Amino acid sequence: MRTISSVVALSIASAASAQAPRELDLLLKPRMADTAMSHVGVRMVVRNVDVAARAPLLMMQMVAAGVNTAQYDASALTVTDAGGPVPLNETTEPKDPANNRYFRRWTAMRPVKGDLTVMYDGTPRRLPAGQWPGGPVMDMRAEDGGMNGRGGYFLVLPDDTVRHRIRVRWDLSGMPAGARGVWTHGEGDATKVLTPEKLAGSIFMAGPVKSYPAKADPTFNIYWLTQPSWNVAEVAPVIEKLYRYYGRLFEDTTHSMRVFMRRGGGRGGNGGSGAGGSFLMYSPSADQNPPPMNVPGLVAFLAHEVFHQFPEMFDDFDVGEPTYWWSEGMATYYSNLLAYRLGVKTLDQFLENWSGFLANYYADPNRLLSYKDITSGMFGGRIGLNLMYGKGHAFMMLLNARIREKSRGTRSLDDLAFPLIRAHRRGESYTRADFLAALDRELGPDGRALYEEFRAGGKLLDMPDNLIGPCFRRVAVTYRPFQLGFDAGPATSGDRRVIRNLVDESAAARAGVREGDEVVSTIELGALRADTSATLTLQLRRGEQPVTVTYTPRGGPLDGYRWVREPSVPESACKL
Ligand SMILES: [Zn+2]
Repeated sequence: MRTISSVVALSIASAASAQAPRELDLLLKPRMADTAMSHVGVRMVVRNVDVAARAPLLMMQMVAAGVNTAQYDASALTVTDAGGPVPLNETTEPKDPANNRYFRRWTAMRPVKGDLTVMYDGTPRRLPAGQWPGGPVMDMRAEDGGMNGRGGYFLVLPDDTVRHRIRVRWDLSGMPAGARGVWTHGEGDATKVLTPEKLAGSIFMAGPVKSYPAKADPTFNIYWLTQPSWNVAEVAPVIEKLYRYYGRLFEDTTHSMRVFMRRGGGRGGNGGSGAGGSFLMYSPSADQNPPPMNVPGLVAFLAHEVFHQFPEMFDDFDVGEPTYWWSEGMATYYSNLLAYRLGVKTLDQFLENWSGFLANYYADPNRLLSYKDITSGMFGGRIGLNLMYGKGHAFMMLLNARIREKSRGTRSLDDLAFPLIRAHRRGESYTRADFLAALDRELGPDGRALYEEFRAGGKLLDMPDNLIGPCFRRVAVTYRPFQLGFDAGPATSGDRRVIRNLVDESAAARAGVREGDEVVSTIELGALRADTSATLTLQLRRGEQPVTVTYTPRGGPLDGYRWVREPSVPESACKL
């Protein structure tokens, strides 16, 4: 999954691509106080600037995906040009209602000419001692003698959308010997042409950094400061093998990928945030006493995230309704299929992964909504993200089955998708219209009808028996989707936890839970979701009265399918 802010960066970059880049030098100097990094000295020089008085000059994002940034004001900045100090005028945009993203902007009170230099102390997010909270990976943190984080948290940037030739260098003289400085686009002294927005979305890590491979590689690296609770040497070579396979397949073997890991994430969580060329994720350390890492699950997660480097979102993803069905559908479909083709997964592991995505579709009570309604409901928390993944994945499987059927087995979704992705890697057009043209070439008018049916919703997708080829057959299944029966947020967090928005016909209501009851016991959501037969016992308080209620937090039933191995067909005939 990509975050919204990294997604927005893509469209701005493509719009600005026609202009010659300006030079922007960024020198970063992390400094220590005792054993922790206290701040990063930032010195940004933008060459040959010519900006009129009161024209947009500098900006800083104030909030990224709900996370406050370092939020400097003008008094924290030293700004000069060829004429000396530059007096600044500061304005802060009003908070947007969702508190997802807004900016502080600076203009100069006189024309700015020559080299513009901006200096300040980049300050890490203040965290309670010993705590490593999860959440969107938007902040910059001091961690174990070093730092890591997203540029937009601590950088003040040019207030424009044009491409700059950005050179990042590190002054590590304030750090212990052996320190390394790494950016999304390289280790040490690195240069990349990017818009300021893309620079804000890139990742930085410095200090006693460890890596796979041990020495920096031009195209694939994994970096961390704190040793994860799991064995990197077991997982990293598999991900590297997959990444290089993707590169050969999509004819782009020079695109670089840097995976950064930071301490935290609670119970072995895999949360992360992607930006072009890198990915920053949480990983628990051994001293957090996490449960044992599910290594196949971690490999599947990383295979998905590094796959996103190749089929990015459509260039016009933000025009009209969202097209996550493409970017996420491609990633869920192919990260699993290609791992099987490469021999990294068994046939059983392959089926288990795809079955999980199909179950996300069949077992969701909102499965008949239009795709637009699904995506507009998911960021407010009304509709789970799982349905967006599940329905997009189901659509990709259906397209593949129809293309195979129409071509009598000679063509597949590969023949529709791979040429589009390769064209995009070469810098050619890559839009929803290009997808629809390819769909038309493969399936004719039936293809467009299938797409419109998928968008509109109203009925279940017509999934054929041979959806996954001859090795698997369809069986009817009754799904019992997870249904807590009330809003999870107010019942699981806050000083006083309460039942809100109780669903009338839910098992919770039938068992005796009442709107407004105070929740005394804890609710282990993850365990309840994972085990379809688990019961939940709630200790409640109603006024002064203690109440105990036990029920199975499942709704439905919902009819659907799953696919099982057909033992009479040998694996060599699977055609996957
Ligand atoms: Zn994804």
